[in-house]
Amino acid sequence: MDKKPLLSVRGLEVSYGAIKALLGVDLDVYEGEIVSVIGANGAGKSTLMNAIMGDVPRQAGTVSIGDKVLSSKSFQVVAQGLSLSPEGRKVFTTLTVDENLMMGAFPRDDRSKIEATKEHVFELFPRLKERHGQYAGTLSGGEQQMLAIGRALMSAPKVLLLDEPSLGLAPIVIKDIFRELKKINGEGMTILLVEQNARQALMLSHRAYVIQTGRVIMEGPSSELITNPEVEAAYLGTT
Ligand code: ATP
Repeated sequence: MDKKPLLSVRGLEVSYGAIKALLGVDLDVYEGEIVSVIGANGAGKSTLMNAIMGDVPRQAGTVSIGDKVLSSKSFQVVAQGLSLSPEGRKVFTTLTVDENLMMGAFPRDDRSKIEATKEHVFELFPRLKERHGQYAGTLSGGEQQMLAIGRALMSAPKVLLLDEPSLGLAPIVIKDIFRELKKINGEGMTILLVEQNARQALMLSHRAYVIQTGRVIMEGPSSELITNPEVEAAYLGTT
């Protein structure tokens, strides 16, 4: 591809004390793409997402949107155009659906545009509209995942980051969520997706990276990786 990436990660390193979790990760996401990152438990997928967002400190490396190098402070990263639906959803259980969504809009100040985004989230996930006044802690796992994605969309990001949206959900609910992600991408949203459910992720994404113990060991079009015998043996066996 000759054009410049929208999101670009270069030489990203993260350590937790003596544990080196990321050892120089490079990754690009182009406008309009869905890119997935697959890997086993503990490979560093969540660390990658959290380091991109500035939620864990980066020892080295840069994260850029276009030509702009992003801050390492998470509230600034959101204002600069990235938004994360985190692993385990992390909805605010004692707040309502509406209140959770409004929390996601914190960097914005145009009330009418915020309302328009909320209406759009309700179109994508009508169940959230039906339950708009309900406490998030009383939603089902699938509904909480919808809320986490909706909350992330409320900041009107340039790139939407999703950490394990399928975690702990029934296959039919996963199918619904992935169908909505495809729709969101079809409307123009660029997506970076981290998944242990490698088959689903490869089926949804345009390109993918495979990470193992903090390094990218393979990358390419998802349609090629899904038929790669090494990927199949290591990551597709049980999904
Ligand atoms: P999973 O799919 O199980 O969440 P992952 O690929 O997301 O795995 P990470 O959670 O990023 O992997 O973990 C990468 C490595 O960093 C692992 O060895 C993990 O034990 C370690 N690690 C993650 N968070 C911390 C932490 N807060 N303190 C110490 N070590 C950590």
